[in-house]
Amino acid sequence: YSSWTGVELAPADPIIGLTQAFKDDPAATKVLLGVGAYRDGDGKPVVLPSVKKAEERVVASLQDHEYAAISGLADFCRLSVAFALGADSKPVVENRVACVQTLSGTGACRVGLAMLERLPAVGGGGKPIVYVPSPTWGNHPNIAKDAGLEVRRYRYLDDKTKTSLDFEGLMEDLEHTVEPGSAILLHACAHNPTGVDPSREQWARISRALAQKDVQVFFDCAYQGFASGDPENDAWAIRKFVEDGHNILLAQSYAKNFGLYGERVGALSAVCEDPQQAKALESQLKRIIRPMYSNPPVHGARVVATVLADPNLKARWADECKQMADRIQGMRLALKSSLEDLGSTKDWSHITAQIGMFAFTGLTQDQVLTLRQRFHIYCTLDGRISVAGLTSANVHYVAQAIHEITN
Ligand code: PLP
Repeated sequence: YSSWTGVELAPADPIIGLTQAFKDDPAATKVLLGVGAYRDGDGKPVVLPSVKKAEERVVASLQDHEYAAISGLADFCRLSVAFALGADSKPVVENRVACVQTLSGTGACRVGLAMLERLPAVGGGGKPIVYVPSPTWGNHPNIAKDAGLEVRRYRYLDDKTKTSLDFEGLMEDLEHTVEPGSAILLHACAHNPTGVDPSREQWARISRALAQKDVQVFFDCAYQGFASGDPENDAWAIRKFVEDGHNILLAQSYAKNFGLYGERVGALSAVCEDPQQAKALESQLKRIIRPMYSNPPVHGARVVATVLADPNLKARWADECKQMADRIQGMRLALKSSLEDLGSTKDWSHITAQIGMFAFTGLTQDQVLTLRQRFHIYCTLDGRISVAGLTSANVHYVAQAIHEITN
């Protein structure tokens, strides 16, 4: 007897599959612009010195390897909420934010969406709905479906330009299409995959429109500090919504901004009406976590908490994080100017206007495949390139290839 009879090979994850295809490519000159992980000017992964310092402190003071609480490390949660909302934010001061430590941003999304699936107010008896931007991070729909939600889309990227925000379409969908009782997922900054964020004025309008509706706002914040180089600036939309009275859910990841990808450090928070409600919500979040994985790993959370609790170390981290953001910005400029120097007459201004790890080039699927086959340059089929994969050694080669296929 085998339970596995008839089990079919699942399709490879499109992004992880891309890395494998890159590794298998024997070409001498090849470039990987797929995966969303930071690389330095030599194409190497980075351990931030501030994070290393904090890690040394954590190891030196290590007492035991006991379990964390179901909700994770209390200090980490407290510091994480203050990091996103601001230490002087009203709900923080009034002690009405529930927070649990999670398995990075993915885990925060999963626990948050599982919570929504269980709420009596969401869905009105039917399957609860979450609206995600079109397009969105490829894993969002998977996570939401696995958590038992129905996934619908709201307009985000302009279908005509492919590189800018369809703000009118977005507002129309949020104001008229979205069903009451559903959840709206928003990317707090550095929208993945497009790199296109609303302006502050547009955020304010979105906040106002959603305040008129009975909907649950869910912010996914995977790039705080990494987007603009300033963590306060990158938290602007979140803080604006909280100021406007939205009791948001918030998923945070410390993968990119602290370079702690594999440590799986994240948090899920919920702004509540009062401390009792926050307590009740936290107890329900714990009920979701306990049967899933009991409690989170401690090491990475200790490292992040050490950095956030020490003003000197935090300032050093902010500076190092800015250096990553600046290098990416420099590579955006280099790619754009290389294309112009090569004589491209196309408008590449979106490459520098977009923000975060990725540039949404506007390349078609055929062009992406040509890049792969003829030039051994690997990016996702939607035309998204990871700008972190560009270096001064390969940016000209990439520009030449893009120019050749778009010319
Ligand atoms: N949310 C968004 C929008 C992302 O881009 C990512 C990573 O690419 C994540 C969440 C979660 O990443 P992780 O689970 O590694 O924190």
